[in-house]
Amino acid sequence: MSPITKVRILLCAFCASCAFLWLPVPSTFSSKDKLVYDVVIMNGRVIDPESRMDAVRNVGILGGIVKAITTETLSGRTVIDAKGLVVAPGFIDLHQHGQTDENYRFKVMDGVTTALELEVGTGDVDRWYAERQRKTIINYGVSVGHLAARMAAMGDPADFLPSREAARRAATDAEIAEMKTFLERGLRQGAIAVGFGIQYVPYASHWEILEMFRVAARAGASCHVHLRNAGLKEPASSTQALEEVIAAAAITGAPLHVVHIQSTGGKATPKLLQMIGEARARKLDVTTECYPYVAGMTDIKSAIFNEGWQEVFGIDYGDLQWAATGERLTKETFERYRKEGGFVAVFSMTEEIVETALKSPLTMIASDGILQNGKGHPRTAGTYTRVLGHYVRERNALSLIDALRKMTLMPAQRLERRVPWMKSKGRLRAGSDADVVVFDAARVIDKATYDDPARYAEGVKYVLVNGVVVVKDGEVRPGVYPGRPIRAPHLNAITESPAARPSRLRAVDRW
Ligand SMILES: [Zn+2]
Repeated sequence: MSPITKVRILLCAFCASCAFLWLPVPSTFSSKDKLVYDVVIMNGRVIDPESRMDAVRNVGILGGIVKAITTETLSGRTVIDAKGLVVAPGFIDLHQHGQTDENYRFKVMDGVTTALELEVGTGDVDRWYAERQRKTIINYGVSVGHLAARMAAMGDPADFLPSREAARRAATDAEIAEMKTFLERGLRQGAIAVGFGIQYVPYASHWEILEMFRVAARAGASCHVHLRNAGLKEPASSTQALEEVIAAAAITGAPLHVVHIQSTGGKATPKLLQMIGEARARKLDVTTECYPYVAGMTDIKSAIFNEGWQEVFGIDYGDLQWAATGERLTKETFERYRKEGGFVAVFSMTEEIVETALKSPLTMIASDGILQNGKGHPRTAGTYTRVLGHYVRERNALSLIDALRKMTLMPAQRLERRVPWMKSKGRLRAGSDADVVVFDAARVIDKATYDDPARYAEGVKYVLVNGVVVVKDGEVRPGVYPGRPIRAPHLNAITESPAARPSRLRAVDRW
């Protein structure tokens, strides 16, 4: 019997009713007392957006699973003192293009435990997962991409974004049929979703998009869509573009997720959010996401910069910043770089637009991040800490629990229909996967900037992925790769799926 148990019995001896209530405690407590958890997170402010718990608790983790959340003292082989820190479910990023070790390190320091590439996706799902198996700090997953399907069907070499045939002409019926087969294969291989970048393939017909949605609908896969048009300019406005895909969702039954609504919508963002709210009120499964920055980033070679881009976005050359050097562009440098290709930051939004999107109960937080050799957009390394530090703490634009809900529960729920395993992620409760972030709400902040995007965020003290500590005392631990594939259960070519998960993960808790 532990000293604490003895104290309880002594205290309870003073009154009969209390004794009655407390009598079962010694046996429960003594059995718990013997249990030694792999990791115990003590005295943290535990926040779970699903149950709306927000209280000081101890968290016991065993075999990669959260086993106990309690006020009782727990024993652990590794004990983290989280006094004064927030303990929350690890963040789930539905929109992370960069899927390399370099990117994962910046993500995990931003509190992300699951990074998914769902907008552009991939063409070869089996290979994509195989390349990352047992080599990642955090969990990873991918969609099969319509862009990849279109490039393959039109004979373009596989690339991140199309810039040849697939970006320049309408598809034939035979090519559309080929794209459908391509998507079906990817879904059979366990792709989580179907990705779309319609603005990058402006000649894709409405019928072509509908056909792709039909394939997604049959697999219960959500369509993660970069809309066909941006901004307010009619008739090719973002409003019209959102109508296209809401209609496609209504016609086919495919769930729809609109990516980075604030960068596509610009000043039209409140209208787009209203449309999504109205579609949801009519029972359509439509969701959306945003990131907390006033600039976007994309390839300068892509169709987004086709004739008339200045009018669409309401910007000029000087609003573009070349990622490789940080220089602002002129007509001359724009034309030179457009021939070469490469990432360019597009300053097309205002703080007001960003804040409107963040505050909306409809939006999730997703980064749209990618870093290559330290170059890219600060959103890769700073999206989540920026929301928590700048928008929650400094600007009071939304509450902490609402912000966490947008980073954890909502993205998990988005994918549950196709990936039932996601029901154990995005929550912090007994039985959930031990993907956990421990951060200092008073200090958490992004440090990455447009000029220096490869700077770790601050204030994230500990991160656990599948029960394994990957960030300790604010630093990434080297040589630890507990990340697992997030993959839909599929019919064949199964290499690793939720069903194939080991019941007990290797506990790497000595540091
Ligand atoms: Zn996009």
